Amino acid sequence: VRARVMQVDQSPDVTYQDIGGIEEQMEEVRETVEMPLKNPEMFEDVGIDPPSGVLLHGPPGTGKTMLAKAVANQTDATFIKMAGSELVHKFIGEGAKLVRDLFDLARQEEPAVVFIDEIDAIAAKRTESKTSGDAEVQRTMMQLLSEMDGFEDRGEIRIIAATNRFDMLDRAILRPGRFDRLIEVPKPNAEGREQIFQIHTRDMNVSDDVDWAALAEMASEASGADVKAICTEAGMFAIRDDRTEVRMEDFEEAWEKIQKEADEDEDVSK
Ligand code: ATP
Repeated sequence: VRARVMQVDQSPDVTYQDIGGIEEQMEEVRETVEMPLKNPEMFEDVGIDPPSGVLLHGPPGTGKTMLAKAVANQTDATFIKMAGSELVHKFIGEGAKLVRDLFDLARQEEPAVVFIDEIDAIAAKRTESKTSGDAEVQRTMMQLLSEMDGFEDRGEIRIIAATNRFDMLDRAILRPGRFDRLIEVPKPNAEGREQIFQIHTRDMNVSDDVDWAALAEMASEASGADVKAICTEAGMFAIRDDRTEVRMEDFEEAWEKIQKEADEDEDVSK
């Protein structure tokens, strides 16, 4: 069971150079997660405790998972990911045990970055979700809180959680000593999108006619994940046209296609 819910990566390959448009958030994560792992004595000398847990919140596909992986990479820590939704929906009756296993594993793997994605699935306000009234979900959350509370001597384990639904969270998890550092990871602005286009085309054969600033303008409202999808799709258009060089028009068509698909998805979900 454990193997299916927890994703363990001893040496994640994401670096800070792979992340665009969220410099401030990156700095904050470095200060709150990387520094305590790399220079714990700094915190001891000054006499403050580093934040216990850091919560990243913001829309899907903005780089929250990447940030957690990049910190693990930078600190030579093991990256351990667990998705809240899987915990609750797939392994009914086992949530609390899995949380315990998660922390046991982290202690074995030290230094470790524990990433809990979709934390809202186990930590939603009672009023907000059908599942949160569920005793099983409550038990899972209590186990998580007790692991965090009993973690005075955390050693080389840092906890990062992420959510797209900040408004749904039970405030209990935001209390001091728990996820007491909140970092909002927004969608990128035009400048950020331009950077992300450049990151995802680093290994692509791109024609000189590509105007990065215009692309970034065009893809307004795109998340980092959307920008990546545009680049891949643009490459597909070139291949279909039997070319090895990707042109501006390929990116334009790719964006149209992706928007259309997004609209259709919305219609389906209605
Ligand atoms: P979710 O909330 O859906 O889990 P997330 O915020 O964790 O999303 P990631 O999984 O980090 O998003 O991003 C998905 C993919 O999109 C990444 O693997 C990367 O290719 C691309 N991406 C997203 N944000 C960025 C960014 N800021 N810079 C570069 N690439 C990005």
